[in-house]
Amino acid sequence: MNFDRITEKLEILADAAKYDVSCSSSGAKRNNQKKGLGNSTGMGICHSYTEDGRCVSLLKILLTNHCIYDCAYCVTRKSNDIKRAAFTVQEVVDLTINFYRRNYIEGLFLSSGIFKDADFTMERLVLVAKKLRLEENFNGYIHLKSIPGASDELMKEAGLYADRLSINLELPTEKGLKLLAPDKNREDMIKPMNYVKNEIILFKEEKKLFRNTPKFAPAGQSTQLIIGATQENDLEIIQTADSFYKNYQLKRVYYSGYVPIADDARLPSLQSKVPMVRENRLYQADWLMRFYGFKADEILDPNLPFLDLDVDPKLSWALRNQQIFPIDIQKADFEMILRVPGIGVKSAWKIIEARRFSQLNENHLKKLGVALNRAKYFITYGIHFGNLKFLNSSNLKQFILGNTKSKYQDQYNAQLALF
Ligand code: SF4
Repeated sequence: MNFDRITEKLEILADAAKYDVSCSSSGAKRNNQKKGLGNSTGMGICHSYTEDGRCVSLLKILLTNHCIYDCAYCVTRKSNDIKRAAFTVQEVVDLTINFYRRNYIEGLFLSSGIFKDADFTMERLVLVAKKLRLEENFNGYIHLKSIPGASDELMKEAGLYADRLSINLELPTEKGLKLLAPDKNREDMIKPMNYVKNEIILFKEEKKLFRNTPKFAPAGQSTQLIIGATQENDLEIIQTADSFYKNYQLKRVYYSGYVPIADDARLPSLQSKVPMVRENRLYQADWLMRFYGFKADEILDPNLPFLDLDVDPKLSWALRNQQIFPIDIQKADFEMILRVPGIGVKSAWKIIEARRFSQLNENHLKKLGVALNRAKYFITYGIHFGNLKFLNSSNLKQFILGNTKSKYQDQYNAQLALF
């Protein structure tokens, strides 16, 4: 093995992979079998963080950064004048095993530019996973990035060896895709996604009948949306995510704030900042849809299509619906308790349990994990914040912000600091 060349390839291909945020091992469980190597648990791959705050796993690489396409938002696009490299299948296998044995990584996230066509590239990605599983007896986590347009046969094989599969939708709308990636076709992304969804359903059915049914993508599938490269508003973005959760049973939609990499009239200028706060607010909105029973159209509507950057979307919703509050924490139903800012899913369940035995007070709520600095404006538990009814939602927002220290406040300061 030529170590200098391998190191150079690693530098190029790990760096190119950092723009892909859809990398996580949550939900995968693969036990060590037949005295094999490693196992994966729901605890996740070890991640490290790049300087710009992006999360990367130690072995998160592209098979190649050659690409036949020219997507404007991508460093790997064919018109970009950069150093190119490609690993062989065996090189990726060897690197994974070597890093794993040294305890540097808990798995592999493998993506790729498109070599020649979708199937030619996908075949190589599948071969890496197949060799790892069958020849190296590797039971660690494998996440393969599927190539849009790959055939059903290859998707089937990919699902047998990988824990998670993902296809990046990249732009939230078809219009955005046409503008920045005219060679690409939304249908080519959706078809394999649909195939994976059906195979996962089939696997679950067969598993009920036959215990030894081979696993198929046990950690499910996910996708990534790039935020801020095109003009979509937040409502369009969360509606897209919502429909993909429902129609393709995705485990996760990842949001990636666009990192300016190209001087192109279709893109934000090179000086624009990565929209980190917006990205975070979208993750919070996503969380509300997945775990708190919010619908996309409740979080935002056409009159208010962007998320408030000052406060999280749940607090923003509560401020717009102030007439519903305060709710009686002793009597309100679970769904309503979940909508109180500062009360999470676990605390809501604890409240339901605890109030069966006693009248809850401030101390109880604190012990149950409620963030009272926000929740106290929206609940009653004996003490009544009578003067709050005289505050409109804008005043109340300022009041809460004044009494709360958000970790994002330093990054997003609506008012200029004096010194
Ligand atoms: S197809 Fe993928 S790797 Fe190639 S330019 Fe487009 S986004 Fe980049």
